Amino acid sequence: MRPSAIPLNLPSPLTEVHDDRLRARGIRLLLKRDDLIHPEMPGNKWRKLKYNLAAAKEGGHQRLLTFGGAYSNHIRATAAAGHHFGFETVGVIRGEEHLPLNDSLAFAVGRGMTLTYLDRTAYRLKPVPEQFRPCYVLPEGGSNGHAVRGCAELVAEIPADFDVLCCACGTGGTLAGVAAALGDHQQALGFAVLKGAHFLDDEVRRLQRDAFGSATTNWTIDHDAHFGGYAKRPPELAEFIEDFQVRHGITLDFVYEAKMMCALFRRIEKGDLAGAKIVAALS
Ligand SMILES: *Cc1c(COP(=O)(O)O)cnc(C)c1O
Repeated sequence: MRPSAIPLNLPSPLTEVHDDRLRARGIRLLLKRDDLIHPEMPGNKWRKLKYNLAAAKEGGHQRLLTFGGAYSNHIRATAAAGHHFGFETVGVIRGEEHLPLNDSLAFAVGRGMTLTYLDRTAYRLKPVPEQFRPCYVLPEGGSNGHAVRGCAELVAEIPADFDVLCCACGTGGTLAGVAAALGDHQQALGFAVLKGAHFLDDEVRRLQRDAFGSATTNWTIDHDAHFGGYAKRPPELAEFIEDFQVRHGITLDFVYEAKMMCALFRRIEKGDLAGAKIVAALS
């Protein structure tokens, strides 16, 4: 694999958010703009793929296979990675086929991905269909030990004088990686976008052990940032996105980053994190 074969915006930009609500509490907030790494493999999706692509190549694989829902960013990014790095790709999609394909799946097919569908019961077991073997299997959401090692690299791109690193959590792979790379004086704070996702705490520990042999205790997950559940957009969240856009010119992704940022500002307005220097990762 030649990562330099396509232009990647690395290290991703780090930009400060200037906001009265922060200044009033002596807080500095910087955004790690991983969302700008590559238009087709944004953020943590690229970081998670990097060492998996290398492992697939090393293992002599020509085909990547992965799992996801019909709107999965990971499915899109895997299709793009296959296109750019010369792998066939197969996406095993949860549920029935709906035609015409939505934008995510149409994009994946446009990048050469073969789609196959499993009903929700069959999907749960994540079987690899016989006709697509041999292949390099990426888990749903893309998080495994290789992915976590890739995500850890975000931390070294930031000058070290910050206190807290925030990220949104889907599978927890990003949190597992960044937390493992922090210094002794630093903490990671994840915001779960799924409702009642308490399994994530065990999952982050498992991913850290998988990647590095042991788990760290320098992170916590906020389970009150789901705003009603995965991909829900209640009025409070919609208003926050609009207001943040007007103030800072950045349109936050409503599934992940807006929930993190809105929950972070809620905490700050309650008096949490006063005086801290915070880095929030956008993916
Ligand atoms: C996938 C994704 C996440 C979640 O990352 P995990 O490592 O699965 O926790 C967060 N933000 C965006 C934009 C994503 O696409």
